[in-house]
Amino acid sequence: MNSAYLYNIVDEINDELKQVNPLVLAALCVSSTYLACQLWNMHRDDIGIRRRVKNYVFNFIKSIPMVRKQIDTQLKEVKDELVKSLVYKDGPNEFITKLPEQGINPDELINLARVYDRMEGPRYLEGRVSGAVFSDESNTDEMTVYQEVFRRFAWSNPLWPKLFPGVRKMESEVIRMCCNLMNGDEESCGTMSTGGTMSIMLACLAHRNRALKRGVQFPEMVIPSTCHAAFTKAAEVFRIKAVKVPVNPQTYKVDLKKMRSAISSRTCMLVGSAPNFPYGTVDDIAAIGEIGVKYDIPVHVDACLGGFLLSFLETDYQWDFRVPGVASISADTHKYGLTPKGSSVVLYKNASYLHNQYFCDPDWQGGIYASSTLEGSRAGVNIALCWASLLFQGQDNYRRYAEDIVATTKKIREGYGICIL
Ligand SMILES: *Cc1c(COP(=O)(O)O)cnc(C)c1O
Repeated sequence: MNSAYLYNIVDEINDELKQVNPLVLAALCVSSTYLACQLWNMHRDDIGIRRRVKNYVFNFIKSIPMVRKQIDTQLKEVKDELVKSLVYKDGPNEFITKLPEQGINPDELINLARVYDRMEGPRYLEGRVSGAVFSDESNTDEMTVYQEVFRRFAWSNPLWPKLFPGVRKMESEVIRMCCNLMNGDEESCGTMSTGGTMSIMLACLAHRNRALKRGVQFPEMVIPSTCHAAFTKAAEVFRIKAVKVPVNPQTYKVDLKKMRSAISSRTCMLVGSAPNFPYGTVDDIAAIGEIGVKYDIPVHVDACLGGFLLSFLETDYQWDFRVPGVASISADTHKYGLTPKGSSVVLYKNASYLHNQYFCDPDWQGGIYASSTLEGSRAGVNIALCWASLLFQGQDNYRRYAEDIVATTKKIREGYGICIL
């Protein structure tokens, strides 16, 4: 195509446009550019155009009176059923709705608490429930330690580290023990949180902030379809686009080729589970780490379930800080760490990742306000209980439990004694 031809076309367009009012032309130009930018941003943000259109269509259909009525009746049925199935065990005791005029005396109150304790559902202490509670609470020495720790630390608040230096030290020690357990070097670091979901959310926040600082407007995370729902929760809360990658249908590990092709210039983190909750399979973390190194994307390993199992087993799995590219790990002390509920750790390869999870408001009217996690005040007692648990169990107990769990898994796989509630 020669340039004379192009000039010809331009001249023709100019001739056409001469007939249009310049003001209209300018307005059309501005509005179409604006529209194009809006659509482009919508296409790139965490919701995307497809989901917006889908939501719009569904909401429209739902707003049709006939459909609305049908949905309402079905919803009511489901709701009634749900309420019945949850509340039927409330027992004959009255439902307390008001603060008592005067406080209840201790004996009466303890008796009342016992009534509520007896309301607990299926017998989790008999070892017939999986995934909810990880300790059988049978060791009386252990329980005595917790009672004493609770008594001493129930009101402590690590938001005030100078007031509670003991709790501050306990948290540091828990983090150091976990970093060492998961083979971090001396630069590895982290914080405690109140559970796996919180640890995962903190890591997502940190990696999102890292991307924002690098000028990525709409960060994305690439996650296996089998990873925990905490990641899509984090995506929703922190407005990260979650790009799900299917697993290999034979191995149930994330499909690495598809993971690689899901990466874009906006990817702020890659995720692998060790293992995942739905299937118990461990993704190929070494390979994910390699991809992370190649594209300079932090890799997060969700070891909420496996952190305190894999660390104590002789396995070929490579899943911890020994894998180059692994930038963060979530591990639940309140799962196979066997501590009372309310504690977990999120660990980072070094402080440059961790600092992206910190918050600081230097202009707050109450003074400079800084916090290391999403909470403000935190329950020091959760930290103290976790610290006590780790020291109480020691490596030998964890190793023994891990071996027992693997043996039980094998038994179940071979098909005996299964009882599914
Ligand atoms: C349990 C679990 C989580 C979430 O932990 P919570 O303590 O329930 O918030 C995340 N990932 C995996 C693999 C888990 O098993």
